[in-house]
Parts: sequence; structure tokens; C-alpha cells
Amino acid sequence: MTARDQYTFGNPVTLYDRVEPPVQHQPEPGVQAKMTPVPDLGEKTYRGTGRLTGRKALITGGDSGIGGAVAIAFAREGADVVIVHLPAEQQDADRIVGLIEEAGAKGHSIAADITEAATCRAIVAEAVSVLGGLDILVNNAGKQVAIDRLEDLSDEQFEQTFRTNVFANFWLTKAALPHLPEGATIINTASLEAYKPAPDRLDYASTKAAVNNFSKGLAQQLAPRGIRVNVVAPGPVWTALQVSQGVSDEQMKAFDDESTYQRAGQPAELAPAFVFLASAESSYVSGETLNVNGAMVTP
Ligand code: NAD
Repeated sequence: MTARDQYTFGNPVTLYDRVEPPVQHQPEPGVQAKMTPVPDLGEKTYRGTGRLTGRKALITGGDSGIGGAVAIAFAREGADVVIVHLPAEQQDADRIVGLIEEAGAKGHSIAADITEAATCRAIVAEAVSVLGGLDILVNNAGKQVAIDRLEDLSDEQFEQTFRTNVFANFWLTKAALPHLPEGATIINTASLEAYKPAPDRLDYASTKAAVNNFSKGLAQQLAPRGIRVNVVAPGPVWTALQVSQGVSDEQMKAFDDESTYQRAGQPAELAPAFVFLASAESSYVSGETLNVNGAMVTP
């Protein structure tokens, strides 16, 4: 562990360097280990203080990027963690499970495609069996492929984006609910795109608006059962999503310039928001969207 951790004060604008990524392409889903530069998941900086001691978490898309940073943070806070990823991402997943175990927690990965209801039910069953229960569900997996013209946005892509980003949240939550005790928390991942849709991300941006809306309704429905539902809405964060057709070459070159900070966020900067919403500290926070976006104004 270096001297700096997430509690170190400093200028947030210059805390991380600009990414200035060379233009690079990978087939979907991107493998983080092959990115230049490799995103910072807080491996050297996240310091746990026991805020999730004994909790049992399931995180989709937990092999890389934001989900990977959340998995590391949760484990260092004392939670056992199951991550879900696509089969092509085994290399990234193995690394995260190693880091979870290094933190002294139980780690387990499930290679599965969440775009089918039956698979989502099987994922929850396996996670419950491995963890001996479940009290944190993080719906974080996401699909983003930029297409300039509506005429070129295939019916298949439109449906797959909704299946990944919206339907899977519904299926996983539905399967998890019978296992979630009072005090459990569900955290869904939206995006700045929910309010500020890019013209080449019609399918993606509309799924993120749906995630926000769904979560706020569900928070009210589940409050009487003692279960909280919240959302984290990231701004531009340097992850594998960008290099696997998530943005155009021009947008990749200017990726740092998108936020007010004039630098992209790093996944490490997202993890504390998820920890807060998963921990007991946020007991009076439900139906909330926590925007982590480098001073981009949201409604
Ligand atoms: P990432 O590529 O590192 O993670 C996305 C993960 O989703 C993949 O690793 C993959 O495991 C998983 N996934 C995708 N399709 C799947 C499927 N069919 N079945 C199972 N798993 C699947 O990228 P990230 O940026 O860390 O993305 C995490 C979340 O953050 C996503 O919901 C994304 O929309 C959201 N988000 C990211 C940004 C950003 O700038 N990076 C901004 C706003 C929101």
C-alpha cells in the first residue's frame, strides 16, 4: 500500500493524470489487461476500514473497470465477493479474484452472459450457494456501442443493449430478492448519459435513463421490507467499455476533455461511492442517484 489512499486530501482535478489514450480497438467485451494505459482500480490506493465486515456481495461486470474497483474495495472493507463476467474476460476476472483473496475475503467468479433470464437466476443461485447468502447486489455490467445513424443501429444491438443494461437488472434483482434480508442494499449503475444523451448512443443512453427511473420506483417498493436501492451515475471513466466500440476514435482522442476537470475519471474514484451506498452509513439514503462525474452538471 502506498502512502496515498482515498482519504488523502489534495487537488481532485490533478489527483490523477490525464489519460490521453492512443486510439485503440478491441472486440467487445474489451479486456482491460490489453488497454493502454491500464485503468487504475485502486489496487495500490484503496484502504479498507471494516465498513462492510461480513457482508456478502454479488457484482456483475466485476472483472474490470468500475465493477473491478468496487470488488477490490468491497473485499478490503471485509465483504466476500462474487463477480460475474463474460467468458472472454477470464484473465481480468482471475486477477480480481486474486486481489479479493489477498484482502482476506472469499472471492469467486462466474463466467456467464446475463442477457438471458434463466442465466441470471442461475448466477444468483450460485452466488448464494458460494457466499452462504446475499446482502449486496451491484448491477454494474453494461453494453455500450456507439453508432452514428439511427438507420445503422441494428435491431439486434438495440435489443442486446436493453437486455444487458435493463432486463438483466430486473432478472437478477427478482432472483436475488427472496434471499435479501433486512438491511440489504441494491446498487445499480446508470450514467451521465441518462440526462445528457450523446447523439451516437441512443440505445445506451436510454437504458441508463431507465435504470435511474426503475431504481427510484423500486426503492419505494422495497423500503417497507428494509431494503435500500440506489444508483451510481459515472461520468467519463477510462475503462474497457471505451476501447470496445463504446466511443468513436475522435471521442477517444478527446476523452479527457469531456469532463469539467479536463481529465477522465479512474475506476478507483468510483468505488467509494458504491462502498458508501452498500454500507450502513447510508441508512437514510434510498432512491438516490450519486453522480460521480467531475463536475458535470446534472438535473
Ligand atoms: P467495463 O468494460 O470494464 O465493464 C463492463 C462489464 O460488463 C464487462 O467487463 C463485462 O464483464 C460486463 N458485461 C457486458 N455485457 C455482459 C453480458 N452480456 N453478460 C455478462 N457481463 C457483461 O466498463 P465500465 O465502464 O467499468 O462499465 C461498468 C458500468 O459503468 C457499465 O454499466 C457502464 O455503462 C457504466 N458507466 C461507465 C462509464 C464510463 O465512462 N466508463 C460512464 C457511465 C457509466
